[in-house]
Amino acid sequence: MAKNETPRTAITPTRADDYAEWYQQVVRAADLAENSPVRGCMVIKPWGYALWENIQRELDRMFKATGHKNAYFPLFIPKSFLEKEAEHVEGFAKECAVVTHHRLIAGPEGGLIPDPEAKLEEPLIVRPTSETIIGAAFASWVQSYRDLPLLINQWANVVRWELRTRLFLRTAEFLWQEGHTAHANEAEAREETARMLDVYATFAEQFMAMPVIRGPKTASERFPGAVDTYAIEAMMQDRKALQAGTSHFLGQNFAKASGIKFHTQSETQEFAWTTSWGVSTRLIGGLLMTHSDDDGLVLPPRLAPAHVVILPVLRGEDTRAKVMDYVDAVAAELRSVNFGGRPIEVEVDKRDIRGGDKQWEWIKKGAPLRVEIGPRDVDGNVVMVARRDRGSKDKTSMSRIEFVSKIADILGDMQTALYDKALAFRKDHAKRIDDKGAFDAYFTAKNQDKPEIHGGFALSHWCGNAACEASIKERLKVTIRCIPEHGIAGVVDADGLKDHGACVQCGAPSDQRVVFAKAY
Ligand SMILES: [Zn+2]
Repeated sequence: MAKNETPRTAITPTRADDYAEWYQQVVRAADLAENSPVRGCMVIKPWGYALWENIQRELDRMFKATGHKNAYFPLFIPKSFLEKEAEHVEGFAKECAVVTHHRLIAGPEGGLIPDPEAKLEEPLIVRPTSETIIGAAFASWVQSYRDLPLLINQWANVVRWELRTRLFLRTAEFLWQEGHTAHANEAEAREETARMLDVYATFAEQFMAMPVIRGPKTASERFPGAVDTYAIEAMMQDRKALQAGTSHFLGQNFAKASGIKFHTQSETQEFAWTTSWGVSTRLIGGLLMTHSDDDGLVLPPRLAPAHVVILPVLRGEDTRAKVMDYVDAVAAELRSVNFGGRPIEVEVDKRDIRGGDKQWEWIKKGAPLRVEIGPRDVDGNVVMVARRDRGSKDKTSMSRIEFVSKIADILGDMQTALYDKALAFRKDHAKRIDDKGAFDAYFTAKNQDKPEIHGGFALSHWCGNAACEASIKERLKVTIRCIPEHGIAGVVDADGLKDHGACVQCGAPSDQRVVFAKAY
């Protein structure tokens, strides 16, 4: 290293220095979102919203391919609706926004106040989730077994009055989709629950390049009122788990509360079996924490708002027109190529700012490919290409024809490389632990120089007793993320999950390993 050179990263602090602050700085540097004047609510900026639109488009396609249709239900839920399902009432966080008035009037000392004369008879709750209001609609839509299954999805915003918020990971208002379905029997509803968990896992792995572990939650981690909750769980780079999506089998609980009944083929009347499932803008936080580095955001090409950014090197008026003509031609050629089912998206950054600053801006925003084109490239019919998953100075000169013909392969290669890297990271920070002392050390060690005892995912035996689970949570802030349904690559195979062992808390016999981790 030259003597004037200090190690520099585009983001300070680095992941190793202060992970939580690094996260906020990446969100800011990538221009994804910002805090709003409304406490706990975020403004999603164009680059972040385009990312959400790409997530939305792919998921929407997958939902429709599995027979679902979109609909929209009210933002407001009468308080009495939320009171219908006892366990839902019991378990659901009461941190909700409540609407009590329907008119403003001028206040005695200026400004506006809610009109005391305009108090609502029944308060309205801004939806924290829509099971109850959609249940009311289903009750009137479903009469006969012929109306089933009813497969509905809603793209919407929801509000949960969070006090400690973090952009994308936990905000008072967030965007999501919620699927709600009704079925004639238990088997079909369970099949639906599993199918949608599978859709989420496929999406996470194939589009987000984010490996996930899937399986049912323990009773204490279930959605209030659900019979079973299934989740996909991913490992972030601080080795904590992020619950990235859930699918609930609701049994007949919500159908009974909402009166979703149908006439069977044998003319009896029965309650329907329902499910619900959802993912949210939290996925963006998960995507960021899976792939990004100390230079900013890293985006998997299949979801990137732009695959390529072209940075024309415009030195002097005499070459400007020549370079821009060439840039436009390259951009047009690239846009005619398909990648992952959509045309290549190209940004051309013509802004008149320093080339180095421009480069770094796009590195921080995570554009998968940066292409520099200057007068000499035009003369040689070449382009200078840099990949976001390689070092910032790692640039390759390629012939224009070669680049256009290979771009889909390059992006596909990056997509795979990101997944493999995330999978290797998880493998390195997950292990089977059978001893209570080792388990405690795994989750309590703070010494960064000893990564082997620095935590991650522990695949350990649990007797099934809620008291053991609660005790571990209280002692170590570690929870059971899920009871894995499949082997975990490089860590434990399917048979290994069902070996005979002893509960890591109480020592009682167990034949099921679960995933223990600290979580977001
Ligand atoms: Zn136990």
